Amino acid sequence: MRVSGSPTPNAGRKRAKNDPADPAETATRQLRELQTPLRFIRGVGPTRAEQLGRLGLKSVEDLLYHLPFRYEDRRLVKRCRDAVPGETATFVGRLAGLRKRFDPRRRAQLISAALVDDSGAVSLFWYRAPAYLAAALAEGRRLAVHGRVEQGPGGEKRLVHPEFEALDEGADEPLERIVPVYVRPGGVALNLMRRWVARALADYGDRLPDSLPPATLERRGLLAVRDALARLHRPDRDADADELNRFSSRAHRSVVFDELLYLQLGLGLRKRLRRTGDAVPLGKPARSYAAEMRRLLPFRLTVAQERVLSEIDRDLQASHPMQRLVQGDVGSGKTMVAWLASLRVMERGAQAVWLAPTELLAEQHFRNLRPFAEALGLRAALVTGGLRGAERARLLGAVERGEIPFVVGTHAIIQEGVRAARMGLGVIDEQHRFGVLQRLSLRKLAGDAGSLSAPEPHLLLMSATPIPRSLAMVLYGDMDVSFLDQMPPGRRPVLTEVFGEEQRRAVYEAIVEELRRGHQAFVVYPLVEASDRLADVRDATRMAERMRAGAFRGFRVGLLHGRMSPEERDAVMRSFRDGTLQLLVCTTVVEVGIDVPNATVMVVEHADRFGLSQLHQLRGRVGRGGAPGRCLLINRAPGNPAAERRLKVMETEHDGFKIAEADLALRGPGEWLGTRQSGQGDFRTVNLVRDARLLLEAREEAEILLAADPGLEKPESAAIRAILMHRWGRRLELGAAG
Ligand code: ADP
Ligand code: MG
Repeated sequence: MRVSGSPTPNAGRKRAKNDPADPAETATRQLRELQTPLRFIRGVGPTRAEQLGRLGLKSVEDLLYHLPFRYEDRRLVKRCRDAVPGETATFVGRLAGLRKRFDPRRRAQLISAALVDDSGAVSLFWYRAPAYLAAALAEGRRLAVHGRVEQGPGGEKRLVHPEFEALDEGADEPLERIVPVYVRPGGVALNLMRRWVARALADYGDRLPDSLPPATLERRGLLAVRDALARLHRPDRDADADELNRFSSRAHRSVVFDELLYLQLGLGLRKRLRRTGDAVPLGKPARSYAAEMRRLLPFRLTVAQERVLSEIDRDLQASHPMQRLVQGDVGSGKTMVAWLASLRVMERGAQAVWLAPTELLAEQHFRNLRPFAEALGLRAALVTGGLRGAERARLLGAVERGEIPFVVGTHAIIQEGVRAARMGLGVIDEQHRFGVLQRLSLRKLAGDAGSLSAPEPHLLLMSATPIPRSLAMVLYGDMDVSFLDQMPPGRRPVLTEVFGEEQRRAVYEAIVEELRRGHQAFVVYPLVEASDRLADVRDATRMAERMRAGAFRGFRVGLLHGRMSPEERDAVMRSFRDGTLQLLVCTTVVEVGIDVPNATVMVVEHADRFGLSQLHQLRGRVGRGGAPGRCLLINRAPGNPAAERRLKVMETEHDGFKIAEADLALRGPGEWLGTRQSGQGDFRTVNLVRDARLLLEAREEAEILLAADPGLEKPESAAIRAILMHRWGRRLELGAAG
């Protein structure tokens, strides 16, 4: 696999072993050297370095971890005579009949040539050739070209804009190999990019520290990262190209595992640190708001609510900050738990600050809880974007001075720099909307931003979508998790039925019937991927029009989708909540925990395209008042047994946790690991959806390491600790441990 000049992994390791310095010092030195700016790589220079920098590639380390996004299998070099239109292939030959013309219309170079080998020729065309490309092509030059063969107008076979590599005369470098393809700055030839990576690997590859302990390598069947990266940038001749392209080669697994392991170590360490860090001190209870509140309640708390509350109570009495996620099904009563917890904090003289993902939700919490606050004699404030001028200044001033104990707002209040001097508890509703790292910024609310030793407020996070326990432990590795796994009594499950397209009439009749009774209804469209967004909007828009003109003439039909501004969306949602609109056609933006007690029916179009947990979350929006709820799922994938089986689960299962587990088993973890909750941007090589299994393994491995050395303080953990601080220290705010 090795090219001359590339590091032999063993050489690097031997050197490390003979080094008299201790392993942590070695790792630290290696990591420092890997920070060498790219302009010091031979052939890069300041201009190129700046271009690379704009892609986020600044140091040698960045470049080494810049994995190919694709591989070309050039092991099968074809003879020109055997070119078959429609096939992608590699050809090797010499350039002949090279013509470069400037095309004024396109303002670009038009280049054509023939590639000739001893069997025949293929034509090559570049319609918009950038200067560097034009410069690289010369008559008689030996090239390897790679691309899709097309049938030319004159019957000749040709390649348009092929990848190519100029071959050195007499070079004995094997042509037939798997070639990496990189994301690269505009104007930089792939060849150059490959050369720089190879240089970086040759000059600095041995600086990649031994980040995976030998026992881990063995247990998990992995390669040292140094070897893995070498293989990924320069695959073995006999490597499996498909595996490489699927990112599932052993080398890929090793690099990804390494990154996940350190994340898990970081989260694990963070959790332990929190247990030693200081929480904002809470005074002695001066009142007993929580007890008074219980007397005001028209119902009794469920056993699960009591259990979770006592877990929270225990956390609040400790001197370290709580960071607890409450997982509960829709309607399991999370709000009341958070409210009672807030009262426990308020009765000890501190503020409780609630954050909701939308203004509407913030308003809903405020509207529901303010009467209780007033009954207890507590001041409450709603902080939203609508607040202006003197009113705003007055309110924020009172919040900042700690005079208003109960504050509800949107996430925006953090960005706006609002402070709550006596914040004792932060409550985040619909936690899944916030990324893993984002939630760390919450401490800023309590003032003293950035100061690591400053006491932190307690945090209570509420997740609307039950996550399978296994995944919750991994995703929220730095938190304690409570499960609110019981519904208040007397809840009637939403009656759910699956329909085919041909039964649409019956579905519409069911809606009309409910509307005639004075109830309200949702029709939900899927929003699959960003690229489909327009089509989905079109679908929902067209459907709304058709419904207004057709089956629902005379009813007030509204439309809600993700292309509308937050203000527009809030306005529509408000009209629906207030009953001005009777039927709401919407995309999944509606899923957030909004309460419209009068809504009794939900129709989900293309239900086959939804995750089960998402469907469950959606149907939780109906039947929240006195009347029973109904959910009609339209399956547009007839004859797909898998889709049918999945949707059938919705008819019989009503426990959000069981549904989540079923979803995990049937579809894998994608539903929970989507970008919106995990912040893909936090990673270099990991794709949480693709690498979910490795995530679980890395978690296990981190537990093994932390069980042996909880603070990573033993000498044998020193190198791991140095690497951990380098990678995650700042991002996970592990500073105090460094
Ligand atoms: P979610 O967990 O989805 O946020 P909510 O907190 O909005 O659920 O609660 C749903 C409804 O159930 C609310 O109207 C709330 O007042 C009510 N509720 C909460 N706890 C109980 C209980 N123990 N018994 C009866 N109703 C309850
Ligand atoms: Mg809620």
